[in-house]
Amino acid sequence: MTDNRKRIDLDALQELVDAIVEEALAYPDHGKATQKIEALKDADVDRLGMAIFTRDGDTVAGGDADAPFSIQSISKVFSLELALEALGDKLWKRVGREPSGDPYNSIMDLERHEGYPRNPFINPGALVVVDALCDQVGGEGETRAVIDFVARLLGEDDFGINDTVARSDEEGGHLNRAMASMSKHFGNFHNDIDIVMKAYVRQCAIELSCRQLARAGRFLMLEGHDAAAQRDPQAARRARRILSLMMTCGQYDGSGDFAYRVGLPAKSGVGGGILAIVPNTASIAVWSPGLDRNGNSLLGTLALELLTDKVDWSVFGEIPTR
Ligand code: GLU
Repeated sequence: MTDNRKRIDLDALQELVDAIVEEALAYPDHGKATQKIEALKDADVDRLGMAIFTRDGDTVAGGDADAPFSIQSISKVFSLELALEALGDKLWKRVGREPSGDPYNSIMDLERHEGYPRNPFINPGALVVVDALCDQVGGEGETRAVIDFVARLLGEDDFGINDTVARSDEEGGHLNRAMASMSKHFGNFHNDIDIVMKAYVRQCAIELSCRQLARAGRFLMLEGHDAAAQRDPQAARRARRILSLMMTCGQYDGSGDFAYRVGLPAKSGVGGGILAIVPNTASIAVWSPGLDRNGNSLLGTLALELLTDKVDWSVFGEIPTR
């Protein structure tokens, strides 16, 4: 399994995934569910799922891999892809590509940079990306576009939006509205804030299982994703750029620690999910609702750390065995 070009040994990987789920669940600290979204506050932190979708189209899954969960900020990867596809480099006139060094929902930096968010994965940046999509297709069109894109990647539409979670996020979204207002004040927000907020909370409230999310992540794998990457170099180029942002900005204020421990580009959400990509090799989804102090899934990160160490998957190279 160490040579990325070799066929992945699925039986060995299955055994490993089962062992990792068990080992991670034995860890004494399971973290704390997000307290920021009322409807997710009581999520069971003793649950853990993992699914690996391989370049060859196989899936290896363990634990709660079939339980649907709220993808939250992982949806920012899908909306970013759609915005880049629609706008190309023009998008970077409205949002940057630098890690923030502040929590994902911090407003301070936005004032300093006159409504220009640091990157598309912190909330002010994601809201501007959704606003840019709303310029093209309107609020309901934005939600539909994200849903259609995910359905296309999955090859099925057996998933939905949790209305209770969306409403809860919208009702408690004072800070998000304030960030949108700040960007609007500086001319970097075009649409009605409530319309954009609604589209944003709805894409965040999409529910997928680990098995589905790993499959949906295949557009970022480059090799192994026929429609987007192999036949369309532009899509592959976009994927590579999105991966670079996931590496530097994908885990909120814990992106450096995550890169050190896991070594893969990834995007987390406060619902406890993480999508991690091994370029040209695999798309991995983990979920456990207990978060660490940076808002990343505690057991999910641990499970990815154990996996990548054992199979020697890292964008920073392979460890020689002899
Ligand atoms: N909908 C959440 C919010 O805007 C997403 C947070 C996250 O997963 O980072 O607060």
